[in-house]
Amino acid sequence: MNINVISIFPEILESSFKGLTGKALEKNIAELKLIDLKEFSNNGYGAVDDAPYGGGEGMVIGIEPLEKSLESIKKPGHVICLTPQGSVFNQTKAIELSKLKDLTFICGRYEGIDQRFIENYVDEEISIGDYVLSGGEIAASVVIDAILRNIDDVIGNKDSVNKDSHSEGKLKGHVYTRPSEYKGKKVPEILLSGDHKKVNEWKLANSLWVTREKRPDLFKQLQLSEKEMILLRQYGDFLTKKHE
Ligand code: SAM
Repeated sequence: MNINVISIFPEILESSFKGLTGKALEKNIAELKLIDLKEFSNNGYGAVDDAPYGGGEGMVIGIEPLEKSLESIKKPGHVICLTPQGSVFNQTKAIELSKLKDLTFICGRYEGIDQRFIENYVDEEISIGDYVLSGGEIAASVVIDAILRNIDDVIGNKDSVNKDSHSEGKLKGHVYTRPSEYKGKKVPEILLSGDHKKVNEWKLANSLWVTREKRPDLFKQLQLSEKEMILLRQYGDFLTKKHE
Protein backbone atom coordinates (compact mmCIF):
# COMPACT_ATOMS: atom_id res chain seq x y z
CA MET A 1 0.00 0.00 0.00
CA ASN A 2 1.27 3.50 -0.83
CA ILE A 3 0.25 6.13 1.68
CA ASN A 4 0.78 9.85 1.09
CA VAL A 5 0.09 12.48 3.70
CA ILE A 6 -0.11 16.19 2.89
CA SER A 7 0.39 18.41 5.93
CA ILE A 8 1.79 21.73 7.06
CA PHE A 9 3.52 19.92 9.94
CA PRO A 10 4.62 16.53 8.55
CA GLU A 11 7.11 16.15 11.42
CA ILE A 12 4.16 15.50 13.77
CA LEU A 13 3.47 12.31 11.82
CA GLU A 14 7.09 11.12 11.75
CA SER A 15 7.21 10.41 15.47
CA SER A 16 3.93 8.49 15.45
CA PHE A 17 5.08 6.10 12.70
CA LYS A 18 7.05 3.80 14.91
CA GLY A 19 5.69 0.64 16.54
CA LEU A 20 3.17 -1.16 14.39
CA THR A 21 3.22 1.33 11.53
CA GLY A 22 7.00 1.29 11.60
CA LYS A 23 6.98 -2.51 11.26
CA ALA A 24 4.70 -2.32 8.22
CA LEU A 25 7.08 0.19 6.67
CA GLU A 26 10.16 -1.91 7.49
CA LYS A 27 8.57 -5.01 5.97
CA ASN A 28 7.75 -2.97 2.82
CA ILE A 29 4.07 -3.78 3.26
CA ALA A 30 3.39 -0.07 3.21
CA GLU A 31 5.29 2.88 1.87
CA LEU A 32 4.72 6.24 3.47
CA LYS A 33 5.40 9.61 1.85
CA LEU A 34 5.06 12.76 3.92
CA ILE A 35 4.52 15.89 1.85
CA ASP A 36 5.22 19.29 3.39
CA LEU A 37 2.50 21.65 2.15
CA LYS A 38 4.71 24.65 2.96
CA GLU A 39 6.95 23.69 0.02
CA PHE A 40 4.04 24.52 -2.30
CA SER A 41 3.44 28.00 -0.96
CA ASN A 42 2.60 30.81 -3.41
CA ASN A 43 4.85 33.30 -1.62
CA GLY A 44 8.40 33.37 -0.35
CA TYR A 45 7.37 32.96 3.29
CA GLY A 46 6.01 29.44 3.10
CA ALA A 47 2.50 30.63 3.93
CA VAL A 48 -0.29 28.42 2.60
CA ASP A 49 -3.24 30.05 4.37
CA ASP A 50 -5.19 33.26 3.95
CA ALA A 51 -8.06 35.15 5.59
CA PRO A 52 -11.54 33.74 4.97
CA TYR A 53 -13.84 35.44 2.47
CA GLY A 54 -16.84 36.92 4.24
CA GLY A 55 -14.74 37.60 7.34
CA GLY A 56 -14.78 35.62 10.53
CA GLU A 57 -12.18 34.03 12.72
CA GLY A 58 -9.00 32.20 11.74
CA MET A 59 -7.31 31.41 8.47
CA VAL A 60 -8.12 29.00 5.65
CA ILE A 61 -5.65 26.80 3.74
CA GLY A 62 -5.73 27.87 0.10
CA ILE A 63 -6.59 25.73 -2.92
CA GLU A 64 -3.42 26.43 -4.95
CA PRO A 65 -0.78 24.94 -2.61
CA LEU A 66 -3.07 21.98 -1.95
CA GLU A 67 -3.58 21.39 -5.67
CA LYS A 68 0.14 21.65 -6.41
CA SER A 69 1.06 19.29 -3.58
CA LEU A 70 -1.50 16.74 -4.79
CA GLU A 71 -0.19 17.02 -8.35
CA SER A 72 3.31 16.25 -7.05
CA ILE A 73 2.14 12.74 -6.12
CA LYS A 74 2.48 10.17 -8.90
CA LYS A 75 -0.51 8.07 -7.90
CA PRO A 76 -2.65 9.74 -5.22
CA GLY A 77 -5.35 7.04 -5.43
CA HIS A 78 -8.23 7.51 -2.98
CA VAL A 79 -8.02 11.03 -1.50
CA ILE A 80 -9.22 11.43 2.09
CA CYS A 81 -9.62 14.74 3.89
CA LEU A 82 -9.48 14.59 7.70
CA THR A 83 -12.17 16.89 9.05
CA PRO A 84 -14.59 16.98 12.00
CA GLN A 85 -17.30 17.38 9.34
CA GLY A 86 -16.63 13.93 7.82
CA SER A 87 -18.24 10.54 8.44
CA VAL A 88 -17.08 9.09 11.74
CA PHE A 89 -14.32 6.52 11.25
CA ASN A 90 -14.86 2.94 12.41
CA GLN A 91 -13.48 -0.59 12.04
CA THR A 92 -15.61 -1.34 8.97
CA LYS A 93 -14.11 1.68 7.22
CA ALA A 94 -10.59 0.66 8.36
CA ILE A 95 -11.05 -2.79 6.78
CA GLU A 96 -12.52 -1.27 3.59
CA LEU A 97 -9.60 1.17 3.20
CA SER A 98 -7.01 -1.56 3.97
CA LYS A 99 -7.91 -3.17 0.62
CA LEU A 100 -6.84 -0.12 -1.42
CA LYS A 101 -3.42 0.25 -3.04
CA ASP A 102 -2.93 4.05 -3.03
CA LEU A 103 -4.22 6.44 -0.39
CA THR A 104 -3.64 10.15 0.14
CA PHE A 105 -4.56 11.97 3.34
CA ILE A 106 -5.05 15.73 3.51
CA CYS A 107 -4.52 17.22 6.97
CA GLY A 108 -6.21 20.53 7.66
CA ARG A 109 -5.22 23.23 10.18
CA TYR A 110 -6.69 26.54 11.40
CA GLU A 111 -10.28 26.93 10.11
CA GLY A 112 -9.87 24.13 7.59
CA ILE A 113 -9.28 24.00 3.84
CA ASP A 114 -10.88 25.82 0.90
CA GLN A 115 -14.14 24.06 -0.01
CA ARG A 116 -13.31 24.10 -3.72
CA PHE A 117 -10.35 21.78 -3.14
CA ILE A 118 -12.66 19.34 -1.35
CA GLU A 119 -15.17 19.45 -4.18
CA ASN A 120 -12.56 19.04 -6.92
CA TYR A 121 -10.20 16.47 -5.43
CA VAL A 122 -11.42 14.78 -2.26
CA ASP A 123 -13.11 11.37 -2.52
CA GLU A 124 -14.06 11.08 1.10
CA GLU A 125 -14.15 13.20 4.28
CA ILE A 126 -13.36 11.34 7.51
CA SER A 127 -13.67 12.44 11.13
CA ILE A 128 -12.18 10.47 14.02
CA GLY A 129 -14.92 11.59 16.41
CA ASP A 130 -17.27 14.35 17.39
CA TYR A 131 -14.71 16.75 18.82
CA VAL A 132 -12.29 19.23 17.30
CA LEU A 133 -8.51 18.75 17.10
CA SER A 134 -6.05 21.49 16.20
CA GLY A 135 -4.92 19.66 13.08
CA GLY A 136 -5.51 16.59 10.92
CA GLU A 137 -2.11 14.98 11.62
CA ILE A 138 -3.14 13.05 14.74
CA ALA A 139 -6.37 12.02 13.01
CA ALA A 140 -4.36 10.78 10.01
CA SER A 141 -2.08 8.67 12.22
CA VAL A 142 -5.09 7.16 14.00
CA VAL A 143 -6.70 6.22 10.68
CA ILE A 144 -3.45 4.91 9.15
CA ASP A 145 -2.65 2.77 12.21
CA ALA A 146 -6.15 1.24 12.18
CA ILE A 147 -5.89 0.54 8.42
CA LEU A 148 -2.44 -1.08 8.60
CA ARG A 149 -3.49 -3.51 11.37
CA ASN A 150 -5.87 -5.05 8.86
CA ILE A 151 -3.30 -5.72 6.14
CA ASP A 152 -1.99 -9.30 6.01
CA ASP A 153 1.39 -9.87 7.68
CA VAL A 154 1.48 -6.53 9.52
CA ILE A 155 0.48 -8.30 12.72
CA GLY A 156 2.08 -11.73 13.11
CA ASN A 157 -0.96 -13.34 14.71
CA LYS A 158 -3.94 -12.79 12.38
CA ASP A 159 -6.30 -14.05 15.10
CA SER A 160 -5.42 -11.12 17.30
CA VAL A 161 -6.86 -8.81 14.62
CA ASN A 162 -9.88 -10.98 13.80
CA LYS A 163 -10.84 -11.30 17.45
CA ASP A 164 -10.24 -7.67 18.35
CA SER A 165 -13.06 -5.48 19.59
CA HIS A 166 -15.35 -4.30 16.75
CA SER A 167 -14.13 -6.93 14.29
CA GLU A 168 -17.39 -8.87 14.60
CA GLY A 169 -19.54 -6.05 15.93
CA LYS A 170 -18.79 -6.85 19.57
CA LEU A 171 -16.10 -6.05 22.14
CA LYS A 172 -13.33 -8.50 22.93
CA GLY A 173 -13.92 -8.74 26.68
CA HIS A 174 -11.72 -9.22 29.74
CA VAL A 175 -8.13 -10.44 29.57
CA TYR A 176 -5.79 -11.52 32.40
CA THR A 177 -2.16 -12.46 32.96
CA ARG A 178 -0.01 -13.68 35.87
CA PRO A 179 -0.36 -13.72 38.85
CA SER A 180 -3.54 -15.80 39.05
CA GLU A 181 -4.43 -14.07 42.30
CA TYR A 182 -3.57 -10.48 43.23
CA LYS A 183 -4.55 -8.82 46.49
CA GLY A 184 -7.44 -11.25 46.86
CA LYS A 185 -8.68 -10.85 43.26
CA LYS A 186 -8.67 -14.10 41.33
CA VAL A 187 -8.59 -14.81 37.62
CA PRO A 188 -11.81 -16.64 36.58
CA GLU A 189 -11.18 -20.32 37.33
CA ILE A 190 -12.25 -21.59 33.90
CA LEU A 191 -9.31 -19.76 32.31
CA LEU A 192 -6.92 -21.84 34.44
CA SER A 193 -8.73 -25.15 33.79
CA GLY A 194 -6.91 -26.13 30.58
CA ASP A 195 -10.30 -27.18 29.13
CA HIS A 196 -10.11 -25.41 25.73
CA LYS A 197 -13.77 -25.92 24.86
CA LYS A 198 -14.91 -24.40 28.15
CA VAL A 199 -12.34 -21.59 27.89
CA ASN A 200 -13.57 -20.66 24.39
CA GLU A 201 -17.20 -20.74 25.55
CA TRP A 202 -16.33 -18.50 28.49
CA LYS A 203 -14.49 -16.07 26.22
CA LEU A 204 -17.45 -15.85 23.86
CA ALA A 205 -19.92 -15.35 26.72
CA ASN A 206 -17.62 -12.78 28.32
CA SER A 207 -17.28 -10.87 25.05
CA LEU A 208 -21.10 -10.77 24.68
CA TRP A 209 -21.59 -9.79 28.31
CA VAL A 210 -18.99 -7.00 28.15
CA THR A 211 -20.58 -5.68 24.94
CA ARG A 212 -24.02 -5.67 26.57
CA GLU A 213 -22.69 -3.86 29.67
CA LYS A 214 -20.41 -1.31 28.00
CA ARG A 215 -21.97 -0.77 24.60
CA PRO A 216 -25.68 -1.59 24.63
CA ASP A 217 -25.95 0.20 21.27
CA LEU A 218 -23.65 -2.41 19.67
CA PHE A 219 -25.26 -5.28 21.56
CA LYS A 220 -28.68 -4.37 20.17
CA GLN A 221 -27.40 -4.82 16.64
CA LEU A 222 -26.02 -8.32 17.26
CA GLN A 223 -28.00 -11.28 15.97
CA LEU A 224 -27.22 -13.87 18.61
CA SER A 225 -27.34 -17.55 17.73
CA GLU A 226 -29.20 -19.93 20.04
CA LYS A 227 -25.85 -21.19 21.36
CA GLU A 228 -24.69 -17.65 22.14
CA MET A 229 -27.92 -16.91 24.00
CA ILE A 230 -27.53 -20.06 26.07
CA LEU A 231 -23.87 -19.26 26.87
CA LEU A 232 -24.74 -15.71 27.87
CA ARG A 233 -27.44 -17.01 30.22
CA GLN A 234 -25.17 -19.74 31.55
CA TYR A 235 -22.21 -17.47 32.32
CA GLY A 236 -24.07 -14.16 32.72
CA ASP A 237 -24.72 -14.47 36.48
CA PHE A 238 -21.16 -15.48 37.15
CA LEU A 239 -19.85 -12.53 35.15
CA THR A 240 -21.94 -10.06 37.14
CA LYS A 241 -20.19 -11.07 40.37
CA LYS A 242 -16.81 -9.55 41.15
CA HIS A 243 -14.09 -12.17 41.47
CA GLU A 244 -12.97 -12.59 45.05
N1 SAM B 1 -13.19 25.08 11.85
C1 SAM B 1 -13.30 23.67 11.60
C2 SAM B 1 -14.71 23.21 11.90
O1 SAM B 1 -15.31 23.76 12.81
O2 SAM B 1 -15.18 22.25 11.26
C3 SAM B 1 -12.32 22.90 12.46
C4 SAM B 1 -10.91 23.07 12.03
S1 SAM B 1 -9.78 22.21 13.06
C5 SAM B 1 -9.36 23.41 14.25
C6 SAM B 1 -8.35 22.09 12.07
C7 SAM B 1 -8.14 20.78 11.35
O3 SAM B 1 -8.02 19.72 12.28
C8 SAM B 1 -9.26 20.36 10.43
O4 SAM B 1 -9.18 20.99 9.18
C9 SAM B 1 -9.03 18.86 10.34
O5 SAM B 1 -8.06 18.52 9.38
C10 SAM B 1 -8.48 18.52 11.72
N2 SAM B 1 -9.51 17.95 12.60
C11 SAM B 1 -10.06 18.55 13.68
N3 SAM B 1 -10.94 17.75 14.29
C12 SAM B 1 -10.94 16.58 13.60
C13 SAM B 1 -11.65 15.36 13.73
N4 SAM B 1 -12.54 15.17 14.69
N5 SAM B 1 -11.40 14.39 12.84
C14 SAM B 1 -10.52 14.56 11.83
N6 SAM B 1 -9.82 15.71 11.66
C15 SAM B 1 -10.02 16.70 12.51
